[in-house]
Formats: sequence, structure tokens, C-alpha cells
Amino acid sequence: MAKKKVYIDLGHEGDLKGMDPGAVGNGLKECNVVLEIGKYIKDMLGEYENVEIKFSRLGDKNFSLEQRTNEANVWGADLYLSIHINAGGGIGFESYIYPGAGAKTQAFQNAVHSKIIGKKVFTKDRGKKRANFHVLRESKMAAMLTENGFIDNKTDAAILKSRSKLILIAAGHVEGVAEFLGLKKKPESKPTSSNSEKLYKVQVGAFSDKGNADNLAAELKKKGYQTYIVQE
Ligand SMILES: [Zn+2]
Repeated sequence: MAKKKVYIDLGHEGDLKGMDPGAVGNGLKECNVVLEIGKYIKDMLGEYENVEIKFSRLGDKNFSLEQRTNEANVWGADLYLSIHINAGGGIGFESYIYPGAGAKTQAFQNAVHSKIIGKKVFTKDRGKKRANFHVLRESKMAAMLTENGFIDNKTDAAILKSRSKLILIAAGHVEGVAEFLGLKKKPESKPTSSNSEKLYKVQVGAFSDKGNADNLAAELKKKGYQTYIVQE
């Protein structure tokens, strides 16, 4: 089965000179907030099989709207998901699809919108809307855009400053995409409760002289590390 391709467009460019930071308010910049959400999405969507993800950016980057939709179109994405933070005096969450979008895109919007609202992070559901935005119009695949709260609203800004809330917002996006595409979790990905049982081994040195190995082991033991020597 061909892998599904999901293009995640993290809105705006970045926090550096000459870049578009997006909306600004309450000590927050949109470019940074959506980047953090995007990094959680990357981890969470990575737990599913038969899916490939491409990000418009995973850092600060000059990248026009046209470059974004071109990239997604050339790549042959199945879905285009653009993530933004609102501004201009309002509160809550809303999502957008293109005015002329068909049933498939509506179903995509329904899935993602309801999963995000279901996380109960936002105090208001502003609804599923339609708008003639470049990224919705020029992308060839089912495309939607989320506006995750208002950066210039105190209540929403407090949400956007909370790491745990951003993780929930990311999870809503991922669960919506997974439901719409019918994605399944990779068999080896276990619930977080059992992750603590994973064992990570760290090797600090390899020596041909056993005496040197013993010395390093003694040094580490002194510092409180559990050590053992393995002959290979
Ligand atoms: Zn924006």
C-alpha cells in the first residue's frame, strides 16, 4: 500500500530579521508557537505507519505561500494542513477550507476540527469556516487551515504559553489526520505508560588495554554511574 503523504504547513517564517513572524501579542510570536506545535505533531504522527510527513519548515525559514503550495503539489501530498494562530480581537478555535471545496475536504475538516475541539483546550468553538486563502486555493489536495486561538487575547495566550496545552492541540491535529486517513499505530509504539521500561545503553569508551578500561570504569563509578566492562 502506498504511504499517505501529509504536508504540514507551519504558518509564517520565523523570528529572524527579514522574516514574517505572523501575529504577535502577549509576549508571543505566531511563528514560534506554530513551530512548537509542529514539533509535537512530528513526534506523534511518526508513531503511525504508512504515512510520510513533510513540513514547510521546522525552524526559521524564508518561505513564501507559493513555495509552500508548489512544494506540496510537486511532492504529491494527499493532505495539506496549515497551522496558524489568530489575532484581531476574538477568542477560541476555528478552521478553514476553500469555498469551493468538495465532500472529501469537508470530511477532512470535520475530522480535524472535532478532534481539536474534543481536547477541550479552547473556551470557544468559532466554527468550521470557508475562506479564499492562497494555501487552500492553490493546493491540489484536500487542504485545511487551523487558527488555534488568538495571540492577542489573554485567555488564549495563556493556553499558547502552556506546553501541555500545545501538546493537546498537536494531538488533536494528529488524531484528526489519522482518523481521516484511517492510519494505524506502528506495532512497536506502546502507550506512554510502558515507555519508562525502555532501556537505553550508553557506551563511553573502547580500549585495547584492559587497564585503561578499568580506570575509566572506576572514574565513572566514583561519579555515581553504574558501569560494566564488556570484551568484544
Ligand atoms: Zn497566521
